[in-house]
Amino acid sequence: MAPLESSSSQLFFDSTFDVYDCGTLAGTRVVPDPPPLPGTSYGKQRSSRNAKEARCVHDVPEEVRDCWNRLFLEGYQADVRVSTDDGSEILSHSCILGIRSPVLRSMLEEARVEDGFRNILISGVPSEAARVFIRFLYSSRFEQDEMKKYALHLLVLSHVFSVPSLKIVCTDQLERFSLAPDNVVDVLQLARLCDAPRLSLMCTRMITGDFKTISLSEGWKVMRRANPSLEQELLEFLVEVDTRRQERAKRMEEKKVYLQLYEAMEALVHICRDGCRTIGPWDQKLKGSQVVCKFPACKGIELLVRHFSACKMRVPRGCSNCKRMWQLLELHSRMCSTPGTCRVPLCSILRIKCGIGARKKNSNGSYWCVRS
Ligand SMILES: [Zn+2]
Ligand SMILES: [Zn+2]
Ligand SMILES: [Zn+2]
Repeated sequence: MAPLESSSSQLFFDSTFDVYDCGTLAGTRVVPDPPPLPGTSYGKQRSSRNAKEARCVHDVPEEVRDCWNRLFLEGYQADVRVSTDDGSEILSHSCILGIRSPVLRSMLEEARVEDGFRNILISGVPSEAARVFIRFLYSSRFEQDEMKKYALHLLVLSHVFSVPSLKIVCTDQLERFSLAPDNVVDVLQLARLCDAPRLSLMCTRMITGDFKTISLSEGWKVMRRANPSLEQELLEFLVEVDTRRQERAKRMEEKKVYLQLYEAMEALVHICRDGCRTIGPWDQKLKGSQVVCKFPACKGIELLVRHFSACKMRVPRGCSNCKRMWQLLELHSRMCSTPGTCRVPLCSILRIKCGIGARKKNSNGSYWCVRS
């Protein structure tokens, strides 16, 4: 068994240390599931994932988990001493550490043995964080306040020692309790180093959602100096999000206009065919029904028709109300699907005037006006 080289186990925050190498030490790098795509049924997927995880945890009887927890707390028949920077030692079991983490297994195989104990060093994190980490390896248990306090350290540990289940827990904790405008840039950088795509996405969304505040934070200023390419990437993402937002707003506006036009067309045909409230069809008297009209644009179109019939300037270039009426009539004549029986005034005349004489039967069997 090779003696423990303290320099080889200086795993954290060492200037020469590349965290991406650690996950592949044992050749079994485990990458957690990527986050859902933005704009999908994110909440649904997340809740089903959480439910699945919760089910997995509850599938293990509480008694068994208690046993594993006690094994850690009591250190019964321990054969490993885990040292930390402040000189603390955590007693544990090589079989547990080795089975939960391929990186720890590799370290244990090379660790020096003294008095029947293998000695390894976890450096760069507070000893309490290392203790929470080792306890998690035994029973997947943790105290909520400890997890909140050391979530960032534990995220690094989960990545360095390749423990994906802990990475998921840390990501969830950081998302729910710790992400804030003043730390989100730092968390983003750490999430990228620790290969935590879901957390990266959450941070990026928060930055783009509150860019004004976050771009003034100390974290952003430090990141600009240290990592200008990340700043560029975030700015490009911001532009992309903004463009998408504008396009969505434009599409919504167009949809709204189309809907209004569609409703106006329907109401016009309805008034001319059935009559409504105060206006009867051109060849019949109104029956006086006061039931609520189902055409939302009816009232407005009714007023427009009343105005049109009385306005002295009733010419295409006349008053604005009359202009709207002419536009509606012309639009109707272009779209009319029943030109032979249509009761909308001027439908046939406008079709001829606008050069929409030809009729074409479409695949549904109805007629559509087309330009000749
Ligand atoms: Zn009506
Ligand atoms: Zn008018
Ligand atoms: Zn018509």
